[in-house]
Amino acid sequence: MDFSDLQLSEPVLRAIADLGYTTPTPIQEQAIPFVLRGRDVLGCAQTGTGKTASFTLPMIDILAAGRAKARMPRSLILEPTRELAAQVAEAFDLYGKHCRLSKALLIGGESMADQIRVLDRGADVLIATPGRLLDVFERGYLLLNDVKILVIDEADRMLDMGFIPDVEKISTIVSRMRQTLLFSATMPPPIRRLADAFLTNPKEISVAPPATPAANVTQGLIVVHSTDGSGHGGLKEKREALRVLIKQEDVRTALIFCNRKREVGVVCRSLQRHGFDAAMLHGDMAQAARTEVLERFRRGDIRLLVCSDVAARGLDIEDLSHVFNFDVPTSPDDYIHRIGRTARAGRSGRALTIALPEDGKYVALIEKMIGNTIPRLSVEGLEAADLAAPSSRRRRQGKAKSEPKRPEAKRLEAKQTEAKRPEEKKPEARRPEEKRSEEQRSQPQPGKGVAPAKGEARRGTARPRPQREPEPPVTGMGDHVPAFMLLEIKLPKKA
Ligand code: AMP
Repeated sequence: MDFSDLQLSEPVLRAIADLGYTTPTPIQEQAIPFVLRGRDVLGCAQTGTGKTASFTLPMIDILAAGRAKARMPRSLILEPTRELAAQVAEAFDLYGKHCRLSKALLIGGESMADQIRVLDRGADVLIATPGRLLDVFERGYLLLNDVKILVIDEADRMLDMGFIPDVEKISTIVSRMRQTLLFSATMPPPIRRLADAFLTNPKEISVAPPATPAANVTQGLIVVHSTDGSGHGGLKEKREALRVLIKQEDVRTALIFCNRKREVGVVCRSLQRHGFDAAMLHGDMAQAARTEVLERFRRGDIRLLVCSDVAARGLDIEDLSHVFNFDVPTSPDDYIHRIGRTARAGRSGRALTIALPEDGKYVALIEKMIGNTIPRLSVEGLEAADLAAPSSRRRRQGKAKSEPKRPEAKRLEAKQTEAKRPEEKKPEARRPEEKRSEEQRSQPQPGKGVAPAKGEARRGTARPRPQREPEPPVTGMGDHVPAFMLLEIKLPKKA
């Protein structure tokens, strides 16, 4: 199939040709005709499949007719992170360069006044993170009743980040006379329920089995000892293993993922001390710093970017040769997303994970999900260790029950619990004083948004109590007969 078979307009086709795209990817081939026909679409697709173009290209054509009014965007795209929102905005610039469409970006960490000014001029496309969008809406600077197309992108990440109540709320505010497109890499039950609630007879498209790593990513696992004598539980050896790996491998550019923000800084500074050109990216950095570091990385000014999951989720970095997992992700979904940053658009890439023996249970979860064993590799000069079987480790340590759970493990557990929960959380407004800042929102909250956390009921996001049927007025004693009245009365025998 060719792009010209997809009924896209000439200016859009010209923009695609300028970019050198020759054939549509499977998601584009399947989604574009339905989006152009006005159908709702439920797309199960990962980043890297060409999913962004599958909704932006037809949207540009649909929006070509008509003009936006001040503060009344004609379409809305929800993204879980600022980086992804900025990336989609760039895609509109690229694909819409021969069309005259206006766009606005509403993301946290940047001047709200500037963003509102752009909205005031009228936007055909509004790309937003849910928190900032609701803030601006509640302040009265935005009307959503002219939105004709609503895109909920990366829905499963929204779930991880606790944004689903916000997404539900936005979906109820946006005009009912709209087309809705929902994309998610995986379809856990809460996302399915979201789709059932807000999509009408959607065309379901699935381009790759959920949670399957791209075939052209070569994976490897390096297990190092956790006792390094420094009292840092393997951190020193993991850093050493990382340095050796970077030298051993032919690294052009690499993302190095850590599980915690604190470690991002530690690993980055350690690499810099050893003469590597490394920088860091995590959710606690100011937005200007995040944008700048990403720009430098994209330009190739820095070769290694140490990052957290939230900051790097879905990033589309051209020709990224390697992904290193400095820590084994505690959620297998995160593993798939991390390694999916490399080997994009048909290229090949390598994804290498450094583990400690006690990471055995997390590795087992990942291998179960991908349905394969990750090949074990050894690192020059470092003694390879074995992964501990989850149960044997617990028995050996003898403290499994009292051991505090890692927050990520709790999050995973909460996620699994949510997957089993049959009920839907009702969209409800949060009180303004209880809102978290956009920055806090951008960090995964253990258990947040997946299962009601403690105190959730008080915060108003729990399900309302079911209304009782009005009962008929009771006459006499109603159905209830006091027990004593049913006792057999023994009358004294007549003499
Ligand atoms: P996405 O899944 O939207 O993040 O896209 C992944 C990458 O594939 C982006 O860098 C796009 O520029 C690129 N891409 C999207 N569609 C095509 C296509 N039809 N041919 C070649 N590259 C594409």
